Order: sequence, then C-alpha cells, then structure tokens
Amino acid sequence: MSLFNIANQFIPGGVNSPVRAFKSVDLEPIFIEKSDKVYLYDIDGKKYIDYVCSWGPMILGHNNDEIRKNVIKACENGLSYGAATKLEVDMAKFICENINHIDKIRMVNSGTEAVMSAIRLARGYTGKEKIIKFDGCYHGHTDSMLIQAGSGLMTDGKSDSSGVTKNCAIDTISIPYNDLDILEEVFKKHSNNIACVILEPVAANMGVVLPNENFLKGVRSLCDTYKSLLIFDEVITGFRLGFGGASEYFNITPDLVTYGKIIGAGMPVGAYGGKKHIMDMVAPNGSVYQAGTLSGNPIAMTAGFTQLKILKENSDIYKNINEMSSYLFENIKHIINRNNLDCSLNYIGSLGSLFFTNEKVFDYNSAKKSDTKKYSKYFKNMLNKGIYIAPSQFEAMFISNQHNKQIIDETLNIIEDSLK
Ligand SMILES: *Cc1c(COP(=O)(O)O)cnc(C)c1O
Repeated sequence: MSLFNIANQFIPGGVNSPVRAFKSVDLEPIFIEKSDKVYLYDIDGKKYIDYVCSWGPMILGHNNDEIRKNVIKACENGLSYGAATKLEVDMAKFICENINHIDKIRMVNSGTEAVMSAIRLARGYTGKEKIIKFDGCYHGHTDSMLIQAGSGLMTDGKSDSSGVTKNCAIDTISIPYNDLDILEEVFKKHSNNIACVILEPVAANMGVVLPNENFLKGVRSLCDTYKSLLIFDEVITGFRLGFGGASEYFNITPDLVTYGKIIGAGMPVGAYGGKKHIMDMVAPNGSVYQAGTLSGNPIAMTAGFTQLKILKENSDIYKNINEMSSYLFENIKHIINRNNLDCSLNYIGSLGSLFFTNEKVFDYNSAKKSDTKKYSKYFKNMLNKGIYIAPSQFEAMFISNQHNKQIIDETLNIIEDSLK
C-alpha cells in the first residue's frame, strides 16, 4: 500500500496542510525525507531542485550549517521552559533595533496566530469592529480571514470555508487588490467603524501580484484619514524583500506588522509588532489578551535568530538572491517570447509567478483567468524532470541564497522543455 493511502487512513486528506496534497495538480503528494542546500530528496531517493523553500522560510537554502549547529546546541539545554529567557530579549531587541517602524514585538507560533493577534489588537486599540482585507490575499486560517482568501482556497473550488459564522464574516470586508477607489468608498460607507486594513504589501498567495505605484501610499493615507490602523502582513515579504521587508522596500510605515516563515527559519514562529503606544495595549500591560505556552521557545528562537543575524550581517545575500532571481525570471520571459506562449510573469526581489494567461495579472480576478489545467501539466513535467515548484498556480516561486547560475541554467532548460 502506498504511503499516501496509509496517510489517508489516519490524516484528513493524508496531509497536515491542504496545498501539500497536490489536489489542484491532480497528483498524489511526494513525501520528503531530507533536504540540503537547493535540494529535496523524497522517500524513493529522487532528488529535486526546490523552488518552494518550505513556502519561503529557507531563504538561506536547506539545512544551513550554522542554524543546524546552533539548534543542536540549544537542544542540549532542554526544549522549553514556559518561562522568560534571555534569547527572547535578544531576538526582540535585534528586530526592533534594525527595523524602523517596530518599537516592540511579540513572538507567537505561526503566521495565522500573528494575524489573529494583530487584528484583535487593532480592534482593541481603535475600539472599532470591522476590518478590510483584499480579495486573494491570504492571512492564515483564522475565521475572520477566510473570506476571499486566495492560496489553497482558490484551487479548492470555493473561496470560503464552512464553519465560519455569518456574524464573523459580516465584520470582514474583502475588496479588489490595487483598487483605491473601492477602498475609499468602503471607508466612506462604514465611516467610523473600520478598525484596520490588512494586506500583503506584495500579494503572494494568488500568485505574486505587485502593488500598483501609489497603491500602498494611498492605503496608508486613507487609513490616516479614517483613523484606522494599517497592518502589513509581511509573513512572506518580511526579511525577504530586504531585511526591513516591504515596509522598507516601498518606504511606507504600517502601524502593525505580522511575520512568519523566514522569522523561524523553518521552525514554527510568527510575530507581530509595531508602534510602542499600540503594542503597549497587549497583555500583561494592556487589555488586549494574547498568550502562548510555547511562544518564544528556545529552539525556535535559536533557529530564527541565527537566520536573522546571518541575513543582517551579510548584506550581499539580498544582492545575490535578487540577482539570481532576475536571471531566472528574465530568462523565463525570453522563453515565453521565443515560444510565443500565452503566459505572463510577475516578480519582485526573490519571488515571482508564471501565470498561464497572456493578460497582465494585477488582482484576484485577473489571476483567476489563468489556465490551471495547463499549470497542472507544466507542474507534472517539471516534477518528473526533478524540479519542485509549488503544486498550485496561485503560489510563488522562491529563490534562496543557494540557487546559483548553474542550477538556474539547468532549471531554465527544463522550464523551456516543460512549457513547449
Ligand atoms: C503563510 C502565510 C500566513 C499564515 O502563516 P502560517 O504560519 O501558515 O499560519 C499568513 N499570511 C501570509 C501572507 C502568508 O503567506
């Protein structure tokens, strides 16, 4: 019996997170045994060049020596104390000192938790109830965010989850990305009851979609006008578009930021942070309750802190991954043109998406014009030839510091073959 069949008996759908199931590409999942640098190895010993990078965290490549050594050393002191540690203080201080718009930060265990907590804080701080998000932006699986939520939900054939109450959904308003006019209309309509606007400053869960020029600035200014908080969900962009993430890249100051993925280097870590007067409302100082038995645990902090220090202290890493990324994506553009393919491409920094539509993708509706059947065929070809990309049209390709020219050239040959 295949491992997937056994998995299906004991785990819903055989997986612990839906996109892993390969449903939208009509395949059974591969099971990974180990990883190193750019490579994943499955349980049959097949080797893949990886462009998923655990959905982003492995920005230094897999199985980084320094991180692994530090984690092993940390394990020798025990796994968790449920009490304060110096490591948590060092981590928080390091982030606050190196990111302008963050005065205080609280560690949690996932991106979902970070978003859930930031939204509660925005509501507590403003005393307002409704929140605005954008169609196709994914902010984790907390109830109020499962409205037009992109990613795994786009290819599941339904945009909402059952089990979310009407009363909860009513307080989330989801509108098209990159459309300031509609945002302003919504603000006017609910004039005094919008607690926050949350968005991915570069959307990466409907495929990669860039903010139009002035979009983020416009959102910031409407939030100021209507006294709502602006939350940047930087779970993907944080520490990827540069150490200061999208906020620094676009020079926009959000009120709150959420992190996940890279901040844990592959361990379950999330965080939310921002301006002091807002963060001081969180318990135990303030009235907004938020807690976590394993939050800031020493093993996860060791992994995350080691990765962040490497990124901060070696500024050539961002230069290198961005160069490799442009090399990859510019050459994919040439392949599209050379072969007259009905594809379009969005990329920025070290993430990008190839869409199977010849129209420009700038929001959820334009992303949905992609031919997902063609993507499935492309995915199968790539997988057979040893390239692992996301098993869904609506996800990003990630470049790590281990992807070099030679590996990308090898990849480009296979991409051209697979697209033809
Ligand atoms: C992955 C992701 C989340 C959720 O993070 P989890 O750690 O999976 O809970 C939230 N927001 C964005 C932008 C993400 O990409």
